[in-house]
Amino acid sequence: MTDRRRDIPGTDTVLADPRLAKAIELLGRPVVKKSVLAAQNRARAGEIEPEHVIEEAIVGLPYSATSMQPVINATGVLVHTNLGRAPLSQTARDALLLAAGTTDVEFDLATGQRAKRGRSAIQALHEAVPDAGGVHIVNNNAAVLLLTAMVLAPGKEIVISRGELVEIGDGFRIPDLLTSTGARLREVGTTNRTSLRDYQDAVTDQTGFVLKVHPSNFVISGFTADVPVSALAGLGVPLVVDIGSGLLHPHPLLPDEPDATTVLRAKANLVTASGDKLMGGPQAGLLFGDADLIGTLRRHPAARALRVDKLTLAALEATLHGPPPPVVSALDTEVDVRRAQAIQLRLAGSEIVESTAVIGGGGAPGVELPSLAISLPEHFADKLRASRVVGRVERGRCLLDLRTVAPEDDEKLIAAVLACM
Ligand SMILES: *Cc1c(COP(=O)(O)O)cnc(C)c1O
Repeated sequence: MTDRRRDIPGTDTVLADPRLAKAIELLGRPVVKKSVLAAQNRARAGEIEPEHVIEEAIVGLPYSATSMQPVINATGVLVHTNLGRAPLSQTARDALLLAAGTTDVEFDLATGQRAKRGRSAIQALHEAVPDAGGVHIVNNNAAVLLLTAMVLAPGKEIVISRGELVEIGDGFRIPDLLTSTGARLREVGTTNRTSLRDYQDAVTDQTGFVLKVHPSNFVISGFTADVPVSALAGLGVPLVVDIGSGLLHPHPLLPDEPDATTVLRAKANLVTASGDKLMGGPQAGLLFGDADLIGTLRRHPAARALRVDKLTLAALEATLHGPPPPVVSALDTEVDVRRAQAIQLRLAGSEIVESTAVIGGGGAPGVELPSLAISLPEHFADKLRASRVVGRVERGRCLLDLRTVAPEDDEKLIAAVLACM
């Protein structure tokens, strides 16, 4: 075998190819050069022929200058934390792109004066939750809790049930978050049962507020008791309720999931939630409640450190104004059997099986959503991940759960499976 390594084209030669030159305009030189070096290395290793280096470098180019890759979520987990929680609606994506330029986010085009930042996103949340006297938006729900503790309980106590000392995920715990502000926790009740009396005995002049946290990622069943929001509202101190999932109104499929409207009507002073769970929007922390309390929170110096950028504001408003975002569609629509059949027919050797989708990502634990999945041999799972399709391995099969795949992505899903066959 002759050594063909000296035939491998040099980096500058490859980069001069018009297609790669165009890619440099779009993606920047470092990204394109990385792909060229990878192709040259494959040629050096004898994996490809030297004359294929340019093609290989083109094929190896990423979609964009970010190395984050778009993924099809076929796991059946509607809000998948590791896959970025809620995918945005097309309307929200368009709004993001618009907001990426120069905008009037803090400017009034009519008067030429400074205007309130985020006013239209706040207005959209007011319209979605008319029971809220005030609305505020920060970086995420954790940031709302942080700000609330800093404003309402500096050097004071936060009264919370032992059944609600929740770890959110990745080692982050709400109790640690709260005490990091210097507030102290006054734990009441037991893991399984907490009574109104427990709260009453704990409330003193040292109390900053009472916090009720929705156990959004686990279920305690059996001999249990907790205290409804309406009973806690009468304790004479501010009542803050962390509902977690961002449901704004009751949902028929999620009877145990608290929603902002109901909790406000039960007289909570503040309700906190995430924007990127069941609301289906961008990462954000949503705060609803008494206008004066929210005004105080907004004016705290730390509020500036927790504020959201214009991209989030635009995507949030567009999520609320636009058609149902993907998470809401997946929740409200069962998989059409004809859709599953149309996919299965094109994938030789696949089967349709009944499947169970779940909400995931800190919402409605225990709720099971009927679904249909395309079932393939287990070894497809690894190959499909390389094609940016994430399925679920169950009982020795690779399942592609269609409840979390947007129908617009069916063709991409089929193409990815066919490429693995
Ligand atoms: C998800 C969740 C949080 C954390 O929200 P982030 O928006 O991820 O900061 C806090 N509390 C509850 C009850 C949750 O479900």
